[in-house]
Amino acid sequence: MKLPSLNIQILLGAILGVAIGLFFHRLGAENHVVQNGLYVSGLIGTMFIDLLKMILIPLVFCSIAVGIANLRQHQQMHRVWTTTLLFFVSSMAIAIVVGMSASLYFKPGSGLHLAMFSNAMQSFEAKQLPLPEFFAQFLHGLFVNPFTALSQGNVLSVVIFALILGISLVMGGERFKNILKLLQEGLEITMLIVGWVMHLAPFGIAALLIKLVAMQDATMLATLATFVAVVIGTLLLHGVVILPLILYLFTGKSPLWFWRGAREALVTAFATSSSSATLPVTLRCTMQHLHVKPEIAGFVVPLGATINMDGTALYEAAAALFIANLAGIELNLAQQLIVAFTAMIAAIGAPGIPSAGMVTMVMVLQSVGLPAEAIAILLPVDRLLDTLRTTVNVQGDMIGSLVVQKLVNKS
Ligand code: ASP
Repeated sequence: MKLPSLNIQILLGAILGVAIGLFFHRLGAENHVVQNGLYVSGLIGTMFIDLLKMILIPLVFCSIAVGIANLRQHQQMHRVWTTTLLFFVSSMAIAIVVGMSASLYFKPGSGLHLAMFSNAMQSFEAKQLPLPEFFAQFLHGLFVNPFTALSQGNVLSVVIFALILGISLVMGGERFKNILKLLQEGLEITMLIVGWVMHLAPFGIAALLIKLVAMQDATMLATLATFVAVVIGTLLLHGVVILPLILYLFTGKSPLWFWRGAREALVTAFATSSSSATLPVTLRCTMQHLHVKPEIAGFVVPLGATINMDGTALYEAAAALFIANLAGIELNLAQQLIVAFTAMIAAIGAPGIPSAGMVTMVMVLQSVGLPAEAIAILLPVDRLLDTLRTTVNVQGDMIGSLVVQKLVNKS
């Protein structure tokens, strides 16, 4: 019997995962079948993420170094670099405007009060994260001993070192051609292994979704329903309308074409809630299905996975306004601008791991004097919302690489 294509298998895995998760949720956590099922799902889901993480660092390292070396050879480095950063900042700014406008219009949280959540807030100790300190930490994390960065799986500092290595490979020209060749072969090997790991994706994704859905807290979801609806609605607006429109305007490519090429990565991002763990799949889709040249994808996608987070930026801004409503504080225009600005910095600084946005959120709240402990209110719904914001984050990176490729080729 011929198996359906991997794409279809992954979609089936996702649907089955949600269905079984809902079934487990109904049976309740005390049920033996549920307990065993969740244990097995935990094992399979974790193994899938571990496999992706295993290949992540060698892949990022090789793809950036080789990508930069190729770009420099074509004298396009400067243009790719500036276009990429401009795209990242603009798309995050649009996402923030969408999130904040919807929150100001629908006013989620205005019927509720902070006092209702005082128990949760008391048991939560927020780690202080003032903006200057956050900035200093971020800068400090950029330049790290490459061996430490590689062994600790620190994506951003690996990206920076690989970038510098790529430039030096071009400067050295013939002298370093063996190392460049080695890295090129390294990239091919890692992509081959990603292809193997993807055969497990339908099972891994089903397992991750079973666990996620089965463990949702329905009461908390109902209490925060307006907030959850505003976040889901605006994330969908950004992901289904705005980003595809940007893609169409710049490249003429249809949303359906994009979805076909990108779905493996989008579903993986949804199930793992981690841009970093999804990165190997994102690169594979961008290069092999969306046909972005490896030197552009190899640079834009890994950098985007750590700093370009449309979904997270939107969420942080919307959540800050939600907490202001709970606290009964009306933010003036200047304060709203501060929220928008810090939400962008917080999204840039958030690593691509599950719930990272929650940690950097503290900074956004503190920037306008909102209580950082109020994060405790968001924690129960965070895992659910993280799925969609990570998907939008990853989508933004893929669309970014398509737009950058188009703009750079034009010149
Ligand atoms: N989970 C997100 C990501 O990996 C970051 C966040 O928490 O918003 O892209």
